[in-house]
Amino acid sequence: MLRKSVAVMKGLLGMTAPTEVTRGRRFIAVIECVLNQNARDTGAACFPAMNFALLQQCHAHDVGILQMPCPEVTALGFERRRAVGQSLRQALDSEHGRSRCHALAVDTADRIEGYLSQGCELLAVVGGNPRSPGCAIHHGPEGLREESGIFMKALQEELRRRGREVVFQPMRDHDPLLLQEDLARLQDVLVSARK
Ligand code: SF4
Repeated sequence: MLRKSVAVMKGLLGMTAPTEVTRGRRFIAVIECVLNQNARDTGAACFPAMNFALLQQCHAHDVGILQMPCPEVTALGFERRRAVGQSLRQALDSEHGRSRCHALAVDTADRIEGYLSQGCELLAVVGGNPRSPGCAIHHGPEGLREESGIFMKALQEELRRRGREVVFQPMRDHDPLLLQEDLARLQDVLVSARK
């Protein structure tokens, strides 16, 4: 009886027996604020806590999530410290900001490599809104365009330096229609990776 209820509970929690093949070995890398909107600057959060729809999608497709630290917080602190009159973009696109973003990109690429060396597959890097100084994604013919986020550009460069060509896709949650579009695109990536 007890064994049966434990089995039911495991089913409800989506648990399976820990075997060699339990790990799905597929993941995406997301910017910090997708899973924790508290990382955002004052007035920039779109959810009280997280983008739960994205979480549900990944769960439904057995895809894990690597959370990448926020480049703004890393470079400028939670207060986004910068000179009076300096924009966030200018602060992050300074020597100090670019150097912190580069270091973060190297650390992130190292962590990604660790997963890949374990036989995992990285399906996509998920960035942010079109005007995010750190995490915007704007595609051009050669990769991310100049107006993309400083961190996203640094990460693409670092991954390419290691011979990794990865899908970068935005998650534009400042607009519900664009968010739907981006979730649908992510869904396609998750579905096609399963085939
Ligand atoms: S810099 Fe990136 S991770 Fe940080 S709050 Fe902005 S979009 Fe999110």
